[in-house]
Amino acid sequence: MDEIEIPEAIREEIELPKKSASALTLPIIGIVLLLGVAGLFSIFLLSPKPKNTSQPVEQPPIKAIPPQQKSQANQPSVATPSPKTPEAKPSKGDLLGHLPYDVAPQSSLEAITADGRLRMRSAAAKKFKQMQADAKADGVKLTPISAFRTAEAQEQLFFGIKEQRVQDAAKRAEVSAPPGYSEHHTGYAIDIGDGDAPATNVETTFAETAAFAWLEKNALKYSFELSFPPNNEQGVSYEPWHWRFVGDRNSLETFYKVRN
Ligand SMILES: [Zn+2]
Repeated sequence: MDEIEIPEAIREEIELPKKSASALTLPIIGIVLLLGVAGLFSIFLLSPKPKNTSQPVEQPPIKAIPPQQKSQANQPSVATPSPKTPEAKPSKGDLLGHLPYDVAPQSSLEAITADGRLRMRSAAAKKFKQMQADAKADGVKLTPISAFRTAEAQEQLFFGIKEQRVQDAAKRAEVSAPPGYSEHHTGYAIDIGDGDAPATNVETTFAETAAFAWLEKNALKYSFELSFPPNNEQGVSYEPWHWRFVGDRNSLETFYKVRN
C-alpha cells in the first residue's frame, strides 16, 4: 500500500505557521487542516486504485497440487497406499501404459550380487550396495530379486507368463512391461525383497515388511524412489518392490525428461 502523503500545499502551511496569527486563529486553522486531511484521506480510500502502483499487482499463478502429491510432500514416506482408483494418463509412445526404454550397454553395468548374476549401471550399483550395507547395520535384509534385464529376458517374462496365466495383453501389462518398455532395461531399476520374508517377494504384501518400511524411510538418501506408487500416472499396479535410481543426470533424463 502506498504511503499517504499530505499534499504539498498543506504541508507548507503546517511547517510554516504564520507568526502573526493570533491565539484564537491558530486552533481554528489546525481544525480546518485536520478536517481537510481527513477529507482527502477518505477521498483516497473511496477512489479506485491507480493502475500504476509502486508494486506490481500481478501474482504468480498458484499451482494446484494434486492431493496425493501434497500428502507426499508433507510426509517422509515415499508411497502411501490409497483406495483411489488409478488414473492412467497415456503419454505419447507408450504401450499399454508402459514407456519405451533403451537397453543399457553391457559396459555400463556392474554386479550387485556376489555371483554377478544381477547387475545395474555403475552409479546405481554403488548406491544400492551402500544402501544394502546400511540397512543390514539396522538389522534389515534388502535382497535384490531382479535388476538389469535384456529385451530377451523381458520377452520371456511378458509373453511366457502371459501364456502361462492365460492373460490378455492389457491384463498382463498391469503387472509387467512388454519387452522394450521395462525400466529394468535401463540398468537403473531393481526389485527388492526382504531376506526375512521371502514369501512377500514381488507381492504387494512386501509393503508390510521391515525392508519396505526401511526403504520408505531411507531410500531417498541413496536416490532410489518407487517407480509405481499407488495411483501412479502410468496406471501401472502398485509395485512396492520396484525401485529406480534417479541419482545422476542420465538416470534423471531417462525417467523425467519430457517425451515428445
Ligand atoms: Zn521391477
